[in-house]
Amino acid sequence: MSDDGTTYCYHCGTRHPTVEMKLIVSKGGKRWRCIKSIKAANQGRAAREAFGRQTTELNKAEARSKVKALQNAGQG
Ligand SMILES: [Zn+2]
Repeated sequence: MSDDGTTYCYHCGTRHPTVEMKLIVSKGGKRWRCIKSIKAANQGRAAREAFGRQTTELNKAEARSKVKALQNAGQG
């Protein structure tokens, strides 16, 4: 925290108003992160999971061809 009421956000790499931030305690120590990014991450996870389910079938076919290409490229 600093005198101007902003704190460095380790997630965004920039400063936000401290009132919009939360102190995250992890193994590595205490870090300030903005509430916005925390919420976005939580929503993002749920959204990604829902989105992933929809696209899994499409991706599977694509992934198979990519794996084949990688395997072929990896030989030699
Ligand atoms: Zn942030």
